[in-house]
Amino acid sequence: MTRRGVLWSLLGAGFWTVLTGRGSAAQPASMKQVEELQKNWRALLADGVKVPLPSEALKLSKEEWGKRLDAAQFYVLRAEGTERPGASSLNNEKRPGIFACVGCNLPLFTSEMKYESGTGWPSFFTTIPGVFGTTTDYKLILPRTEYHCMRCGGHHGHVFNDGPAPTGKRWCNNGVALKFIPKSAKG
Ligand SMILES: [Zn+2]
Repeated sequence: MTRRGVLWSLLGAGFWTVLTGRGSAAQPASMKQVEELQKNWRALLADGVKVPLPSEALKLSKEEWGKRLDAAQFYVLRAEGTERPGASSLNNEKRPGIFACVGCNLPLFTSEMKYESGTGWPSFFTTIPGVFGTTTDYKLILPRTEYHCMRCGGHHGHVFNDGPAPTGKRWCNNGVALKFIPKSAKG
């Protein structure tokens, strides 16, 4: 690399850090570290917050879901819709905490599993274990892997193989399907 090339790559990295605020939160370097994040997800759960288990199935009728969810939540969770990119304030959520299903409160991701993918949707490189089921959908002709909440069956997003190392996964989640529970009430 020429000196100029080195300079540009340093500047690039600097800008990236400023843009994404990624400088402080180190991403795991190995699958062992990812497994640690998965195993220890409860460390990000706020004190005194009770959450359900994936096995405690929540089955409601379409009408009941209609009462429980607002129109945007219903469209994504119960009709497999997709929100507009950049629509969710959770894109910029960087506090420590838990991202849970807005339909049933099942914890799905921790703040340590989130990364900035640049897509305009909240993105995660791994999940809390055992919280999603998957199906293959052909809505965009090319097959995509759809994923949904194990507890309530609500659609959350699609998982792609262009995420960061070491998992290589990008769990591309509709922000409207999530609710954020900060670890600390003070934020
Ligand atoms: Zn759910």
